Amino acid sequence: MHDPRSSAHAVVIGGSLAGTLTAAALAPHSGRITVIDRDVLPDTPLPRRGLPQARHAHVLWSGGARAMEALLPGIHDLWREHGAHRIPIPQGMLSFAPSGWFRRWHDEHPRHYAIGAGRDLMDWAVRQQLTRLHPHVTLRPACTPVRLLGDRRGVRGVEVRDHDGGTEALEADLIVDATGRAAVGGALLRALGVPEVAETRVDAGVVYASRRYRAPAGAERDWPIVSLQADPSNGRPGGIGTIVPVESGEWFVSLSGTRGHHPTGDAAAFEDFARTLRHPVAADLLRRAEPVGDVTLSRSTPNVRRHYDKARLPAGFLAVGDAATACNPVYGHGMSSAARSALAVGRVAAETGLRHRDFAKRARKAVAREASAAWTLATGQDIFFTGVEAPAPPGAADRAASWYVNALMNAAIGNHDVVQRFTDVMMLEEPAGHLVTPGMVVAALRGPRVPKLGGPVLTPREQAVLDGADPVATHTGPGTGG
Ligand SMILES: Cc1cc2nc3c(=O)[nH]c(=O)nc-3n(C[C@H](O)[C@H](O)[C@H](O)COP(=O)(O)OP(=O)(O)OC[C@H]3O[C@@H](n4cnc5c(N)ncnc54)[C@H](O)[C@@H]3O)c2cc1C
Repeated sequence: MHDPRSSAHAVVIGGSLAGTLTAAALAPHSGRITVIDRDVLPDTPLPRRGLPQARHAHVLWSGGARAMEALLPGIHDLWREHGAHRIPIPQGMLSFAPSGWFRRWHDEHPRHYAIGAGRDLMDWAVRQQLTRLHPHVTLRPACTPVRLLGDRRGVRGVEVRDHDGGTEALEADLIVDATGRAAVGGALLRALGVPEVAETRVDAGVVYASRRYRAPAGAERDWPIVSLQADPSNGRPGGIGTIVPVESGEWFVSLSGTRGHHPTGDAAAFEDFARTLRHPVAADLLRRAEPVGDVTLSRSTPNVRRHYDKARLPAGFLAVGDAATACNPVYGHGMSSAARSALAVGRVAAETGLRHRDFAKRARKAVAREASAAWTLATGQDIFFTGVEAPAPPGAADRAASWYVNALMNAAIGNHDVVQRFTDVMMLEEPAGHLVTPGMVVAALRGPRVPKLGGPVLTPREQAVLDGADPVATHTGPGTGG
């Protein structure tokens, strides 16, 4: 697949999703790619220290999953072979938005879906598929960058240190910072004399607490995602709850709250926090399931955008994934955004090749454009939470955009056409402009076509699980895939 005429070498710092997916995008245009990571990169779907967020529920929306399939054909099959669920949306989702409960419309061929799997499985499969499809990509674990080679005009490589303390200078045409929220690229650039790159930060003070549960009998497969969202308009801190069915018949449960309403790491208090959410269905389901392991906390949630696309940077430097734009994870866009950005980098590489002097500059702009969707969706909501820390309070344009999104969401809960378009954007399949058409404006003004639901709609089997009855003896009703 890769162009044998190209002898370009790219070094990617960070071997998590953004790094490996960007390596996949660059692979056809490079002679050699080296992906370094300070952590181990296991040959099996094992947890690793460098990916602490893997202990929290991760939903991969179809916009991101499709991008990953385009980058690494066969990745869906590999996930499924190892127990990941493909969950049709909206049918396979109990979703309580600020405007109400979404209907679980049944589509014969659902356009949207989510992958339900733990991060360790998702990332391991991506690494496997990357090195299988692109043998000229080398993963180099336990390896860190020491300094960039080159000067303020151009980067020529990176000096790295291995676990035994030995250092090596890797000459390269491109250095990619994919170190996540650690974002080591900033310090490496400053050491070259590059001025600090401006950043924007919007922090709703979200704290996550997560735990795995063994699903109750009858709920191990073919089970919906539960998503209870916060309502920033009520002037109170928000509570959020997500249950994601994952491999091995387990549920990944993440509870979170904005500033002023935080879950703790106390296992005894976990289900009590679930009961503070806007609806008790998550807490009621957890009563039927058996906890596996401890509660893990995360505060890695502020929205942080580093404006690499607007800075004067040396040629040959690119930042991707959370290292460039990290978003509040409650919206579930980080992985999808990284995948779509990687596709965008691949398109630039196909146009210019890696050695073109403007390649990195154009790629930085392409990455920023792709990341804007997730950034706008997350910050457009977060600036309205009480106690948020942001550069400025919401202005008239923010209020107008928020009003429109809420009106559309209100229409979407009772209008199949609107929910399809709305989900296109929420799942990063389409840009936000997809929602601003004459038909959508009329739909937003009209509101839902059918009455709002008073609560979640469960199939008889799901209701039996919730009631603690024997789900096998119950008519199963329409499934949710899985
Ligand atoms: C609590 C929580 C829940 C989330 N839920 C979701 C979700 O439901 N859906 C979703 O799409 N996203 C979710 N996310 C976001 C998602 O985890 C990130 O967007 C995604 O992992 C970003 O990938 P990345 O490769 O940019 O960074 P990371 O995954 O953070 O990886 C960074 C890599 O860089 C390596 N590294 C760091 N420093 C160095 C160094 N000095 N030298 C070498 N290597 C280094 C690390 O070892 C690691 O491998 C969640 C995040 C959190 C915190």
